[in-house]
Order: sequence, then C-alpha cells, then structure tokens
Amino acid sequence: MSHSVQAKAQHSLSKLQKRLRRQTGQAVMDFNMIEEGDRIMVCLSGGKDSYTLLDMLKHLQRVAPIKFELFVINLDQKQPGFPEHVLPEYLDTQDIEYKIVEEDTYSIVTDIIPEGKTTCSLCSRLRRGILYRTANEMGATKIALGHHRDDMIETLFLNMFYGGKLKSMPAKLMSDNGEHMVIRPLAYCKEADIEQYAISQAYPIIPCNLCGSQENLQRKHTKAMLAQWDIEHPGRVESIFTAMQNVTPSHLADNKLFDFKNLKTGEVIDGGDIALDKPEIPKQPSQDSQQDTAEVVTINLS
Ligand code: SF4
Repeated sequence: MSHSVQAKAQHSLSKLQKRLRRQTGQAVMDFNMIEEGDRIMVCLSGGKDSYTLLDMLKHLQRVAPIKFELFVINLDQKQPGFPEHVLPEYLDTQDIEYKIVEEDTYSIVTDIIPEGKTTCSLCSRLRRGILYRTANEMGATKIALGHHRDDMIETLFLNMFYGGKLKSMPAKLMSDNGEHMVIRPLAYCKEADIEQYAISQAYPIIPCNLCGSQENLQRKHTKAMLAQWDIEHPGRVESIFTAMQNVTPSHLADNKLFDFKNLKTGEVIDGGDIALDKPEIPKQPSQDSQQDTAEVVTINLS
C-alpha cells in the first residue's frame, strides 16, 4: 500500500472513531446514562456491537469529568462450538475486570422449543434473568448493552408491523421490578459505522448463529426494507430516527397520551392543524459536518 493510500485510510478510520465516540458521548449525556460513582456492567457477547460498546465506554471513562467503574460480563450459554477461550484471551489484554458466567440455557431452550421453531424469545428471557441476577451479585448500578440506532429503528417497525404499537427499544430503561437500569450508549451510532470500526479493530468476533436457531424472518424482512430505503432514499432512515426523538402526541391517535375528548375550542395545541400546510422537510445534517468533539469530552455527565 502506498503512503498516500495508507494515510487516507488512517484519516478515515480516525474520523470514524471520532464520530462513534462523539455519538456515544452525546447519547450518554442526552439520556443521563452515566452518573458519578456508577459501576457499569458491560455485556460482551463477542459480536461487533458489544466489542465497540466496550471500546467506547473505556474511552469515555478516560476523558469524562466524572468517575465511574466498568466491568465486563459474558454469558457462556453452552452453545455447541462456543469458543470459550476467545473472550478471556481478549479481555486479558484489556486491563478490565471481567466475569464469564456459565449457564446452560442452550439445553433448556432446545428441550422446551420444538425443532425448527425460533428459540430467541425464551433464550432472551432466560438470558435477561441471568444478567439481572449477575448485576446484583456484582454490585452493578447499570447494565450496558450494545444495541445501536438501527436496532432501535428496526424494533420500531417490527412493533408497528406485527404488534400494532408505536414503540421501539429505549436508550435507557428500568427493569420490570424497578431494580435494574439498562442503558444503550450506542443508541446514536449507525450499524454500518460499527461494522466498519469492528473490522478495523480486528475484534475476535464470535459468530451469533452457534445455537442453530431459525432466523427471525420478520426482523430479516424489516432490515432488508430499511436497507433498500437507505439505497433508494438517502436520508430517510436518519429522518425516521429524528422522528423518534420528535413526537407530537396531539397529532397521533392515542387517547391515553393526549386528551382529545376534552380538547376545547379556543385552545391551539402544538401549532394547531397544519395538515394542509406545505410539509416542512428539514435537511439532514451530514455526519461529518457535525463538530467532532469526542477527543475533548466536556459534557457534564452528572
Ligand atoms: S440467536 Fe440463539 S443465542 Fe441468540 S437469542 Fe436466539 S436462540 Fe438465543
């Protein structure tokens, strides 16, 4: 590789890294995900998202104006062919506390779910229970997961198409029993960026199909639909994500969210009826035009 090609590749990697760091810092700040003294349990599955999450949080820990702890947990679900040595070997190079939790959820799931059916929902429920229990045992104040922007958009459409709900995957969530705070610091990061970053870092990726579960076809179709939109209508996916942060309950149809019944003449709510106005289509900011501030994180995380 010539010097100029190498320099160009280095430059674009550095831009990508800055972008991911900036977006992580922004999401952490917008949702107040991390507070002084937190002890955060980072869930590492061995996939590209969770490796990137760990990398981003370690950087944030170095530059943030507050002190917080990180430790890693990996759940070895005893899937056939799970390469047990990969994560400990990687984590030994990372100067971080970690724990590998071994629980044979694979046998439970394969015993209960008939062959050929999707096993993910039972598997995820079991995994969630183990993660919550481990968080208690390890004294974690927050649980960090590697879901990103595209997971959130996909979930929004899955819930609309198949669940009849306008509901996505939140960037910050309290568990049902009110005991565990789950955070998703990569909420603003694009999957394509994470993918590229993971390749550049040569993470030892563990394949996610070891369990042999049938692929979730609904998720696959939704993903394909969004990918197609992204090719045919650049900016549309970004606009959808912006819309998720810009909700107008008075212009939807949920009586529980907005009191339509008691709406009185004389009140103008949310700008009134703009249905016949020319639609306002804001320009999408390009990713690189936003100021790269990741190196100097001056955000107040408290
Ligand atoms: S793909 Fe396999 S390991 Fe992952 S959630 Fe589904 S059943 Fe569990």
